Amino acid sequence: MSYLANENGYYGEFGGAFIPEMLQPNVDALKACYREIIDSYEFKKEFIDLLKNYVGRPSPLYFAKRLSEKYGAQIFLKREDLNHTGSHKINNTIGQILLAKKMGKTRIIAETGAGQHGVATATVCALMDLECVVYMGELDIERQMPNVKRMEMLGAKVVPALSGNKTLKDATNEALRDWINNPEDTYYLIGSVVGPHPYPEIVAKFQSVVSEEIGWQLDEQIGRTAPDYILACVGGGSNAAGVFYHYLDDENVNLVAVEASGMGVDSGETAAAIALGQVGFIHGSKTMLMQDDDGQIIEPYSISAGLDYPGIGPLHAHLAKTGRARFIDATDQEALDAAFLLTKIEGIIPALESAHALAGLNKLDLKPTDVVVVNISGRGDKDMDTYIKSMENGK
Ligand SMILES: *Cc1c(COP(=O)(O)O)cnc(C)c1O
Repeated sequence: MSYLANENGYYGEFGGAFIPEMLQPNVDALKACYREIIDSYEFKKEFIDLLKNYVGRPSPLYFAKRLSEKYGAQIFLKREDLNHTGSHKINNTIGQILLAKKMGKTRIIAETGAGQHGVATATVCALMDLECVVYMGELDIERQMPNVKRMEMLGAKVVPALSGNKTLKDATNEALRDWINNPEDTYYLIGSVVGPHPYPEIVAKFQSVVSEEIGWQLDEQIGRTAPDYILACVGGGSNAAGVFYHYLDDENVNLVAVEASGMGVDSGETAAAIALGQVGFIHGSKTMLMQDDDGQIIEPYSISAGLDYPGIGPLHAHLAKTGRARFIDATDQEALDAAFLLTKIEGIIPALESAHALAGLNKLDLKPTDVVVVNISGRGDKDMDTYIKSMENGK
């Protein structure tokens, strides 16, 4: 059994491409170009070269001795926080910018919530000298000013989305509208394993470099290529898809995805799409999401802006439905506690998103022989305001 998408972009019952007819040619062209180049020597060479010399890959796989003692297992941290721009997101934007160039596109559009994907996109556009337009909800622009300024410094134009709740979903709608209106020269660069087929497949593939490295890094350090557990946080699900990828068909590896439950799954202030468990349509794909009885999308909440997404990629909906991955959740407070613990005993300040993955360690029944990999998807510099507030409140 394979957990990857079929020819039509379905992961079991989830996925597909539910898009306006006018977008069909854009999506078909993308699919054709992707299929043509993904296994080509030339593309791989350029991708691997940039990952190595621009991003700084391979990211270390670090045996966290004190964390291991604390939890009574052998815990390794995959250090995506050490990548250029501070998270795993750059793996995907590098891959897609090469794809856009191959397609002869001159203008890149993206949507962003917290601004992290916008920054990663603006970065690769600067690198490749391509025009960059980032759609961002007006409310998010106010909340995430440092990232707005970063994007502008990198040469991107940040366009406020003024409709709806003025957040990520509205920015997505604006980006799709732009793509419909500019099919010739514009490439839509999606930031997670979400959106219409073939985006989830493309993004997962570009992020799969993470699990590819873990195989040989574990082998080098402990003489085996697979861990017993892999933990990752899930917003849209791209860092989790990357760290799970090469182990999807190895049922001996326990895959654990940690959603952000905010103030609690039943609090109404949450981002735990799988835990709430409704099937619907978002961002051009059939998946699990947060919606009310009328099918209206519910505004998500999490202390970590990167997990503040009302849906989840179709691959993950399928992994949850089949039971291949275990989905658990961590609250704001549990994530904060995990972030302070890691900082104190390992000297690593994680992103708040990654802190959710770390909080998952408390919910597993680990044995001393268990080999566990936790994906540290990003660094915590961007979250210092939240950490400072937490310290001032005595945690
Ligand atoms: C954006 C982000 C995430 C969430 O996105 P996924 O697609 O679920 O990986 C997680 N961690 C960090 C550091 C991020 O910036």
